[in-house]
Amino acid sequence: MQTAITLQQIPVVKTKKTAKTISSKQTKNSCQPGRIEKSFTWMLIKLRIFYFACIILKQPAKVWATFKTMVNLRNNVWGGDLKKMYKIDGKYYFNQYTPGWPSKAYDYLIKSELRRHASPLTVTEKLSFVFLAITRKCPMRCEHCFEWDNLNQKESFTKEDLFKVVDLYQKEGVLQFHFSGGEPMVRFKDLLPLIKYTSKKSECWVLTSGFNFTIENAKLLKEAGCKGVVVSIDHHIPELHNMFRGNTGSFDMAVNAIAAARQAGMVTSISVCATKQFIDGDHLMPYMHFAKRLGVQFVQVLEPRKVGHYEGKDVLLDERHITDLEYTFKRINHSPAYSNYPTMLYHGYHQRRVGCFSGSRSVYVDSAGDVHACPFCHTKSYNIIELVRSNEKKLPAKENKCPLFEKIA
Ligand code: SF4
Repeated sequence: MQTAITLQQIPVVKTKKTAKTISSKQTKNSCQPGRIEKSFTWMLIKLRIFYFACIILKQPAKVWATFKTMVNLRNNVWGGDLKKMYKIDGKYYFNQYTPGWPSKAYDYLIKSELRRHASPLTVTEKLSFVFLAITRKCPMRCEHCFEWDNLNQKESFTKEDLFKVVDLYQKEGVLQFHFSGGEPMVRFKDLLPLIKYTSKKSECWVLTSGFNFTIENAKLLKEAGCKGVVVSIDHHIPELHNMFRGNTGSFDMAVNAIAAARQAGMVTSISVCATKQFIDGDHLMPYMHFAKRLGVQFVQVLEPRKVGHYEGKDVLLDERHITDLEYTFKRINHSPAYSNYPTMLYHGYHQRRVGCFSGSRSVYVDSAGDVHACPFCHTKSYNIIELVRSNEKKLPAKENKCPLFEKIA
């Protein structure tokens, strides 16, 4: 029998080394600025975008058309004019895939988006974001694992390779790195200097199951320059999460990791693979209540895809599941009743309306060094390890196109 968690229950945190409990103070999302600060911040950002548009595009008609295109795209991505934002360490965060503002990285992103939208056919595409799987090792056995065929074999990347990969992508203007695996915290000794190095030019995040994410390690990561963490939590019911992850201690580890990251002052997000069973069991809203109690800023809802451990399985969502996800996505992000809830990211919403950002803005480097459009689209176009070992100074002009959805200009 399942043990249902109630809203009043605070998830159990057992590990002594990590934060002991999620106190009621911690469960409130205290990073949301007040209404006046939010309105003022949005106004400043829009003015800044407009200012850059005037400088870069010069002609008033082009400035206005590009500005409108970008606003429309944003509304399509979020299902409306998203007002939620979070202030952490003096920076405002609107999305886990956008650098905090104010920062050079944010300004750089705006400028490159303006150029892209003003001349989508002629401008050279610039990557702004990379998922980099730094290890093949992982203590989990997840139902949906997209790295399944690479797991727990001999490492492909040496420490030197990883630094060279970062160099190569930074030369191409990459603004954000999300370090994943396997489980990146298994390779903590290499991860820490890697983040210290990378964060001089780009924003760094860690994608983890929660393994080895103690308060001590969270503080070290933060000191090294890590801005945020995405913890995979695939169910608000501990037993169901543990079953999904194939590890009986995984729920406690995940919840502890969020508590530790919050204590260290990092931006926090949880990620869930919304399976048919999860949606049919009406777990979506209870999961969002749980996320609010954890005090995270973002919740990323992923659709299952037939890759890795899900290869050949009947996992794709039906129309009714997608309708449910879209309804919750709009409700959480725009209804005043949910203004204190974390921002919900659901890529399927914009993918079905305006296309996918993967490939043109971001790539996924798997733990064998193969470069794909994203973790769920295994469309290998080149191997980054071969490139860095041959001292290549430029990325190949190869397209990493999403095979499922149109590419967003
Ligand atoms: S999905 Fe991530 S945490 Fe799960 S087994 Fe695969 S690499 Fe490990």
